[in-house]
Amino acid sequence: MTIHAVPDQARSPKLVDGFGRSVSYLRVSVTDRCDLRCTYCMSERMKFLPSDRLLSLAEIDRICAAFVSRGVTKIRLTGGEPLVRRDFLDLARSLGRHLRTGALSELTLTTNGTQLDRYAAELAAIGVRRINVSLDTLNPDRYRSVTRGGRIDRVLSGLDAAQRAGLRVKLNVVALRGINESEMEEMVAWAHARSMELTLIETMPLGDTGEDRTDRYLPLSTVREALERSFALDPLSDSTGGPARYVRVRETGGRLGFITPLTRNFCSGCNRVRVGCDGTLYSCLGQDNKVDLRAAVRASEADDALHNAIARPRHQAPRP
Ligand code: SAM
Ligand code: SF4
Repeated sequence: MTIHAVPDQARSPKLVDGFGRSVSYLRVSVTDRCDLRCTYCMSERMKFLPSDRLLSLAEIDRICAAFVSRGVTKIRLTGGEPLVRRDFLDLARSLGRHLRTGALSELTLTTNGTQLDRYAAELAAIGVRRINVSLDTLNPDRYRSVTRGGRIDRVLSGLDAAQRAGLRVKLNVVALRGINESEMEEMVAWAHARSMELTLIETMPLGDTGEDRTDRYLPLSTVREALERSFALDPLSDSTGGPARYVRVRETGGRLGFITPLTRNFCSGCNRVRVGCDGTLYSCLGQDNKVDLRAAVRASEADDALHNAIARPRHQAPRP
């Protein structure tokens, strides 16, 4: 499928939320499908959305262009698994035009890495410079079990391909009690030795996965205490406008992030919005502000309705 890029609108007023924070970062889910079934994310027998409720790639492209014209400078493509969406590269290529004009400073993605060995070189050619890859364990059997059938060798060759292509890689590791708890130190050392950053993520109780996740909840404060027995962690003031807090690991020289989504300790610095694969715009992770961009984008070929819809959501007061 080919995406016909519509000419970008003249720059519209920038998106500013109710607190005067300008929105510069957009996360877009390009599919709800995935080739894995991680126990904390999906149930074994997932029911996916019917295709008419999914945005087409051309619609995603239009929505992204509208956000770019309103001041978004960074776009992250995610899913489900973005690389299972047919013709994903057409979308990435089309979005690459905003990198070339300089309107976008970064186009990136979060992937499970299983198909990276096929995509990495092309992504780099399009202008992607760094990617996040999810990998919760280095143990092949444990990986198969957590992902319900995934093969770690595919991810490892994907990581090799990404680094060969010059992409900077950050590993996302969901901390799971009794599963990868004992591997954290090894994973940090492994990632940093390969010049990859690593970010630990606390599990969130999202959706029905067919598993009781209360047993698996592992607070990152516990993980941090355990890591501090092996490493000196120097706090960094780096902020990406997102939910991660960072430290430098003195022994490895690498950067380590902590994402504790439920603590909402990041609202004040947040510059992000996200669009689901059905076109729902969420203006905040922790609040229930939603707008239907699919209806807006389908309402007409002109982008007026889309721009009106984008401008609609307002953040509520961040919790202290
Ligand atoms: N499939 C891609 C991947 O796994 O990287 C992109 C989508 S996935 C939903 C994005 C990130 O969300 C991954 O790093 C994944 O580990 C994390 N994630 C999924 N379910 C989660 C949960 N219940 N709690 C915390 N993080 C979760
Ligand atoms: Fe798929 Fe990513 Fe969810 Fe795992 S975390 S099931 S790879 S979408």
